[in-house]
Amino acid sequence: MNELDNHTFRLAVAQFDQAAERMNLDLNLRERLKLPERSLIVSVPVRMDNGTVKVFTGYRVKHDSSRGPSKGGIRYHPDVNLGEVAALAMWMTWKCALAGLPYGGAKGGVQVAPEQLSRGELQRLTRRYAAEIFPLIGPDKDVPAPDVGTDAQVMAWIMDTYSQQMGFAVPGVVTGKPLSIGGSLGREEATGRGVVDVTLEAMKHLGVAVPTATVAVQGFGNVGSHTARIMQEAGAKVIAVSNKTGGLYNPKGLNIPDLLTRYRATGRQSLCDVKMGDAITNEELLALDCTILVPAALSEQITQDNAAKVRCRILAEGANGPTTLEADQILIDKGIFIIPDILANSGGVIVSYFEWVQDVQRFFWKAKDIQDRLHEIITDAFHRTLQFATTRQVTMRMAALMSGIDKVAQAHLARGLYP
Ligand code: GLU
Repeated sequence: MNELDNHTFRLAVAQFDQAAERMNLDLNLRERLKLPERSLIVSVPVRMDNGTVKVFTGYRVKHDSSRGPSKGGIRYHPDVNLGEVAALAMWMTWKCALAGLPYGGAKGGVQVAPEQLSRGELQRLTRRYAAEIFPLIGPDKDVPAPDVGTDAQVMAWIMDTYSQQMGFAVPGVVTGKPLSIGGSLGREEATGRGVVDVTLEAMKHLGVAVPTATVAVQGFGNVGSHTARIMQEAGAKVIAVSNKTGGLYNPKGLNIPDLLTRYRATGRQSLCDVKMGDAITNEELLALDCTILVPAALSEQITQDNAAKVRCRILAEGANGPTTLEADQILIDKGIFIIPDILANSGGVIVSYFEWVQDVQRFFWKAKDIQDRLHEIITDAFHRTLQFATTRQVTMRMAALMSGIDKVAQAHLARGLYP
């Protein structure tokens, strides 16, 4: 479909095609699963603080809902477009299926640079976007969550807008909310904790001792900062972190809690100003000699131009789609152990599932229950994927995709085609 055609969507479809081919997937199902179920484009008019009205473009794409309500984040970023959102929605479908969550996949986004808006503008943008996508969302239909550029506050405004329309509080309409309105303990750090859980399993599998491991993390937002902190708590040495302005490198190891305090003091702007190591570029970070590299920023960061320079032992994909198809092959040829995105970063949606269950049941769990259950689900997914990769002689990425796609295919075959 032309409107969806962009490089990220092509990457998601190419991965799907490879997996579908390898698993000999029914041709009719391939046709259906390649395209999203439903795509909505909305105009979001916002009264700016200076009195003028600006119109932003927003999206919500439901890729598949054969196994349950669709699930996936909302991204605020100037480059958001329909193809990217559709690709991210497709990845959510496979991610939820692989983890065994009773969800389909979706994603949303608004083409906006949130840091350039005042708090009032951001709230008005969010509420109007929520009102525009209102027909699609709901606890049994489609459940948004935070992603790049959005946070618990944005989720709270969506929850409130939806609840105002319904006439009563509906906490289960979004996840990643503040605790005061039905959020879950452990949700904010969940993606990072999941990245660490699976990386530790990969290290055991490869015989890498944690105290000898060095870690470089690209991206210092929700995923990157928690990953770095929890990696350090687990005993590994975090030698580099970065954000979009550049990074910080210290071969002796960075003290992440200290770094976080100082970084917050800069208004989360510049890591270099924190002065706890040498300034490096994002390109240099990706090429560092390290045990574990965690791309935790945007998609398509490791490409055919820089993949040959990547020198890690384990690539743990905290971001969605950080590696292009060409780069993937180069990394495999180099013998790098890849923990693919739909497995590595699934901790976020797993704890989102816990949050939704708690909201629907109105019964809340302790932090330890959340951590233990997350650990159980994500390490089980890791070992199933590893087992699948070994017995079927495919890469970890193919194994993860094939397992996820197979569960969705089974649901489609069982339900049949309407009418
Ligand atoms: N945005 C996160 C992801 O890409 C979380 C989605 C969710 O919790 O629904 O997996």
